[in-house]
Amino acid sequence: MTNKLKYFIGNWKMFGDFGSFKIISKINQFCYKNRNVHKKKIVLCVPNILINFFNKKLKSKYLSLGAQNCHYHNSFGPFTGSVNASMLKKVGSKYIILGHSENRLEGDTNQIIKKKIISALDQNLNIIFCIGETHKEKIKKKTFSVLRKQIRNSLKKKFNINKIIFAYEPVWSIGTNKIPKKNELINTIKFIKRESKKYLSTKKMPKVLYGGSVNQKNIRLFSTISDIDGFLIGGASQSSKKFIDIIKNYYK
Ligand code: PEP
Repeated sequence: MTNKLKYFIGNWKMFGDFGSFKIISKINQFCYKNRNVHKKKIVLCVPNILINFFNKKLKSKYLSLGAQNCHYHNSFGPFTGSVNASMLKKVGSKYIILGHSENRLEGDTNQIIKKKIISALDQNLNIIFCIGETHKEKIKKKTFSVLRKQIRNSLKKKFNINKIIFAYEPVWSIGTNKIPKKNELINTIKFIKRESKKYLSTKKMPKVLYGGSVNQKNIRLFSTISDIDGFLIGGASQSSKKFIDIIKNYYK
């Protein structure tokens, strides 16, 4: 059994309302009961409108809250419908997902993502930086070159690696129930660690999560890959039972 710190990060996407407090409350109870069991960090990235509400009601030391995106602009400005990193920090966000493929699809380029990371780092937020190839890129054997480009074009060499967690999320795996083959996944995780360590000239080994159709069953397979530092969990994090079972089964 591993004694390395593992992350279990939920991405609720555009789901949830005030009634969803019961989900987060059950997860928080689980975190509290298991606070001394295994080194783990549990984070839920919820819709912006719920962060303040959950934060105030929960007041938890065992579960952190995060956002799922922010505007790239560093301060305030005429950007209708947007929120910046400092607003998210003020309402209780400790983490933020940036570069998610669903946002890349809506126009987030590596350059825009870089600006978002700069503004989130300015606010001392912990960044979950998503990278991953599409199915077409995978078929064309472009996975490594796509990942390299995403890393080099979205990160500055002087970024603080202690505040950035990579999440390898193959786009073809998100919400599809398809997962990478074990040996391919091991190679890709190792590649991301090697590549980002070299690019950022850091002595510290970067942390890399896996995300894409993680569930209570396939987590057993992922748990055999020690290089994975944790998981970004979409659909299954919207159910307290599924999310808790993923954690329980990981350590079984
Ligand atoms: C995600 O959206 O980050 C994700 C991993 O989704 P899912 O777990 O539903 O595939």
